[in-house]
Amino acid sequence: MCYKHQFYGIDSHRCVQLTPTLLCNQRCLFCWRSFEHEPQEEEECPPEIILAGIHKYQKKALAGYNAVLDNTVTKTMWEEALDPRHIAISLSGEPTLYSRLPELIDLANKTGYTTFLVSNGTNPEMLMRCNPFQMYVSLDAPDRETYHAVCRPQGDYWDRIHESLSLLGSRRSAVRITLVKGLNDFHPERYAAILQESGARFVEIKGYMYLGYSRNRLARENMPEHAAVRAFAEKVAAACDYRFMDENKLSRVVVLERIS
Ligand code: SF4
Repeated sequence: MCYKHQFYGIDSHRCVQLTPTLLCNQRCLFCWRSFEHEPQEEEECPPEIILAGIHKYQKKALAGYNAVLDNTVTKTMWEEALDPRHIAISLSGEPTLYSRLPELIDLANKTGYTTFLVSNGTNPEMLMRCNPFQMYVSLDAPDRETYHAVCRPQGDYWDRIHESLSLLGSRRSAVRITLVKGLNDFHPERYAAILQESGARFVEIKGYMYLGYSRNRLARENMPEHAAVRAFAEKVAAACDYRFMDENKLSRVVVLERIS
């Protein structure tokens, strides 16, 4: 189980990470994917084809794990994992660049999946048309200048991110902050002011992990310790209407909840 089970009750072993497009309009330093291998052109799959692939590819991803079942991963869990119930639309690329995202989410909802949409917030018009179970928007800087330095967007999307954040008050939602030591872990009061405006229900503040292709851009030292993430989250909470809700030390993440 990952921290989403702890925070929101999601059965992690039945959760599929799904990427409807590999394209992205940012080049975040902390991103684990490779920008070098991003396709220049891609053909979009219809939502029905994407959903139809879920069981097939989940089975492929799990192949072989039944050989190492133990008390933590039981046979029942493994069998349940073959029949996923949750979809996290994230992983690689920016999902709002997939032109049929609202349809994909509606179809997944109708099929009985719980849907999580994770967006970088650069496309508020598309977010307005999407109705996932929970919507995430990233906020990875306290100001425009830091945003450009850390997320390296293809245009100046800072105002668009604010617009996306302003959509969150009316729905089940979370803001995700990836904290990178030395790059964006300052001005907690500025983060707090932006969060206050957003009205999001949850805020996840998570330490950067030295993984994947981000290792070509950052150093291991850019990973903050959990204690630093917790201390930063407390400063943010103290400056707005959010309170500490829970934490997971292994994943270096703290979740704050809106005080209604
Ligand atoms: S917005 Fe997401 S997918 Fe795009 S570069 Fe940043 S972390 Fe990677």
